[in-house]
Amino acid sequence: MAKEIFAIFGNPVSHSKSPLMHNLAFQGLGYDACYTRYLLEDGDTLKDTFFTLGLKGVNVTVPHKEAAFNACDALDPFAQKIGVVNTIVERDGKLYGYNTDAPGFLKAISEFKEVKRVLFLGAGGTAQSTSSILRDEGYEVTLLNRSAERLEKYKSDGFETYTFENFKAKRYDLVINMTSAGLEDDNLPAPQHILDAVIPHAKACVDVIYGKETPFLRLAKSYDKPTKDGSDMLLYQGIIAFEYFTNHAYTFDEIKPHMQKAFDFN
Ligand code: NDP
Repeated sequence: MAKEIFAIFGNPVSHSKSPLMHNLAFQGLGYDACYTRYLLEDGDTLKDTFFTLGLKGVNVTVPHKEAAFNACDALDPFAQKIGVVNTIVERDGKLYGYNTDAPGFLKAISEFKEVKRVLFLGAGGTAQSTSSILRDEGYEVTLLNRSAERLEKYKSDGFETYTFENFKAKRYDLVINMTSAGLEDDNLPAPQHILDAVIPHAKACVDVIYGKETPFLRLAKSYDKPTKDGSDMLLYQGIIAFEYFTNHAYTFDEIKPHMQKAFDFN
C-alpha cells in the first residue's frame, strides 16, 4: 500500500480529472502515494471522513469548498481572506487549508501581457476567489452578472458591478467567462449585443470551462481574438496543490510535464 493517500471530495465527483493528474505525477516523480475520489454528500462530515479514511491530503470541489474552509485548523492568509478552501493537508493531526484555484487561474492568464482591465462574465464561487487575487495583483476587475443578488457582495467589496440591464460597455483588455453557460448547454454567458460591444476591443478572451469549445469562445474566435479555455487553470491549481501535498519536494516545472499527461486522455 502507498505510504500516503490523497483524495478529491465532491458531489458529484465521478467526472473529476484530479485522480488521474495526481497519480500521473506521483508515479512519474517516484513519490510513494496514491490519489482516489470520494463522493462526500454532507460537507459537515468532511473532517471526520478525512481522518476515518486515513488521508494525508484532499482537494475539495463543488459544493464543499466553504465546508472545507470551516473544517481546517489553520488557514493560509489568502484562503482566510476569501473564505474558500480547495486543498487540505494534514500535518501532526491538524488540517491546513489553502486555495489553489485562484493562483492557478492567475498563472493561466499571465501569458496575456499588458493587461489591466478585466471583465468577468459571472459572479459565482469561482469569480469570488479569482477576482480577489487579480485585484491584489493590480488588475482592475469589473463584474457583469445575469442576476443582481450575487453582485451585492462584490459591490460592498468595492468592485464595479453591472447587470445586463444597466451595463455600460467600456474597453476591457480581457473578457472572461466565469459562468457555467456553455458547460452543458449552448448558451452565451451574456446577451450577444453586450458581447459584440466588448469583445472587439479585447486583447484576448478566456473561458474557465475546459475540454470543449463554448459558444463564448466560438464568438471570440469569429472576431479573430486569441482564446484560452480552462484547462491550464485546472492543471495549474493541481500543480500548486501537489506542491503542498508533497511539502514542496518538487518545483512547479518538475511536476508539470507529468500532470499534463492527464490532458492527453479524454
Ligand atoms: P456558481 O454556481 O458559483 O456560479 C455560476 C455563475 O454562472 C453565476 O454567476 C450565474 O449567474 C452564472 N450563470 C449560470 N448560467 C448562466 C447563463 N445561462 N447565462 C448567464 N449566466 C449564467 O459556479 P462556479 O463559480 O462554481 O463555476 C463557474 C464555472 O467555472 C463552471 O463552468 C465551472 O465548470 C468552472 N470552473 C472551472 C475550473 C477550472 O479549473 N477550469 C475550476 C472551477 C470552476 P446568476 O447569478 O444569474 O445565476
